[in-house]
Amino acid sequence: MEIPFFKPVISKKSIAAVTKVMESGWLTSGKHCIEFQDSFAKYTGAKYALALNSCTAALHLALDAIGLKAGDEVIIPVNTFTATGEVVEYFKAKPVLCDVRKDTQNINEKLIESKITKKTKAIIPVHYSGLPCEMDTIMKIARKHGLKVIEDAAHVTPAFYKNRPIGSIGDITCFSFYANKCITTGEGGMAVTDNKAWFDRMKMMSLHGMSKDAWNRYDKKGSWYYEVVESGFKYNMTDVAAALGVCQLSEANGLWKKRSAAAARYGKLFKEMKEVVVQPEMKGCKSSWHIYPIRVSKTIDRDGLINHLAGKGIKTSLHFIPLHMHPFYRDKYGYKPDDFPTALENYKRALTLPLFPGITEREQKYIVNAIKEFIKG
Ligand SMILES: *Cc1c(COP(=O)(O)O)cnc(C)c1O
Repeated sequence: MEIPFFKPVISKKSIAAVTKVMESGWLTSGKHCIEFQDSFAKYTGAKYALALNSCTAALHLALDAIGLKAGDEVIIPVNTFTATGEVVEYFKAKPVLCDVRKDTQNINEKLIESKITKKTKAIIPVHYSGLPCEMDTIMKIARKHGLKVIEDAAHVTPAFYKNRPIGSIGDITCFSFYANKCITTGEGGMAVTDNKAWFDRMKMMSLHGMSKDAWNRYDKKGSWYYEVVESGFKYNMTDVAAALGVCQLSEANGLWKKRSAAAARYGKLFKEMKEVVVQPEMKGCKSSWHIYPIRVSKTIDRDGLINHLAGKGIKTSLHFIPLHMHPFYRDKYGYKPDDFPTALENYKRALTLPLFPGITEREQKYIVNAIKEFIKG
C-alpha cells in the first residue's frame, strides 16, 4: 500500500470558481480577495482580515505594524518552522528561543517571563499541530510587560481556545494556506486583527507602500493618481488564489471534522501502546488536527522506524527540527543541543504520521500495524 503524507481536497466547486476568475479578465487582488477577507474575519471572530501570499508575509507585516526595530527581541518557541524566526531576523531583531511544554510541545508559558528583557517587544506563540497554546497566561504576561502577541496560526483553520476561535485572542494572528495546510490556496496567508491602524499599515505595506491599492486604482471610480508613502513589500494575494480560498473556507469545517475523526481513530489504535505518545487533548481546547505527530519511547529506534514505514509505502515527516539545531541559528547565537532539553527530546523521539481528510480507517490500521510490527521487532 502507498500512503502519501498529505493529500489536499480540491472540490469541483472550487475548480469551477477558479476557472471563472481566470476567464473574467481580472486575475490579481480584487473582489474575490475582499470576499475571502470578509468571510475569514467572520470565521475567526476578528474585525479585519488581510489576504496575503503567505503566512510568512503576514508575520513580517504584523511585526512591522507593531513597530519592531533593529535590536528588539521577540520571544518564540524553539519547536517551530524557521518562518517564525526569520521574520524577526528581517528587522535585525533577535528571536529569543523558548523551550516547549512536555505534553503539547507548545511554548512553555512558565518559561516566558524569564526570557523578557528591556528589549522584548512581542511574543509569537505557535499553535503546534493546531493545538492552542495556553493563551490566557500568555496574554496576561504580555499585558503585564507591555508586549504584543502575534500568533503564528499556520497550523490553524480552525482551532478553539476555551470556546474562542484562534484569531480572536492575540493582537494579530497569522494563518497559512500553503499547499499542505488545513485549507489551501496553493500559497497564501491571512493576517487578522481588531486594530484598524495595524490593519491599514499592513494593507499599505503589503502593496509597495502605496497609499491606494491596485484595484481602486483601476476602478471606474478610482483615478490614475497614487502616492508611495513607504518602501513596502509585494505580499498581496491574487483573485485566482482567493477564489480557491473562499471555497476552501466554506468547506473548512467539513475537512476539520474528517481530520478530527481520523485523529480520534489513531488515538484509539494507539491507546494500548505504551511505547507511543500522541498529542494530548487539552481541557476547553479544540485542535485543528493539522498534523499527527507522535513520540516513541527511548527503547525504540526512531530513525529505524521511519525507514521501516518508508519501506511499507508510508510517507512520514518530522515536526520540527528545533530552530537551535539549524546551522543558521546555532552558529549565529552559539546554541548547544541541550540548551532546550524538551524540544531536543521531542526531536529525537518524534515523527509525524499521514493525516488528511480522505485518509481511511484501513490505511490508518495499516500504519499502526506497521509501527507495532517494528516495535515487536
Ligand atoms: C507553514 C508554516 C509557516 C509558513 O507558512 P507559509 O504560508 O508557507 O509562509 C509558518 N509557521 C509555521 C509553524 C508553519 O508550519
